[in-house]
Amino acid sequence: MRRRPRPRLRKRPRAAVRPTRRAIPRPKLRSPAKQDQLHQETMRQVPPTPRRGRLMSRGRAVPLRTCVGCRVCTVKSDLLRLVAVEGVIVPDHHGRLPGRGAHLHPDPACLELAERRRAFPRAFRLSGSLDASMLRERLARP
Ligand SMILES: [Zn+2]
Repeated sequence: MRRRPRPRLRKRPRAAVRPTRRAIPRPKLRSPAKQDQLHQETMRQVPPTPRRGRLMSRGRAVPLRTCVGCRVCTVKSDLLRLVAVEGVIVPDHHGRLPGRGAHLHPDPACLELAERRRAFPRAFRLSGSLDASMLRERLARP
């Protein structure tokens, strides 16, 4: 059986491509060990491509989120994840509740700001009013 030649994919013009690690050509050397070493050195000089919503700390990615109240972007662990369950805003302390979440500083001032800005329906992509009384009570207690 003859195999049909694969249809050629049209190459897209690669415009506005950021220089990545792969863009650096490997130096051609006879010794594979030396070649590898040189390649490693070249790689080290190039910082990894920064990703949105992440901060690099000691070579590890730290997830960042924006507070829906004060709009400050900070490390995810500083914020409280909130989930809307049947129209009620519920704090998700363990980050395990399903559905779209919103992040907020555990601060009544940020909650007030978020409510004034009507940030919750937007963050949860829900229309209509959401009940934040339970959350307010939770935040008021130290
Ligand atoms: Zn805040």
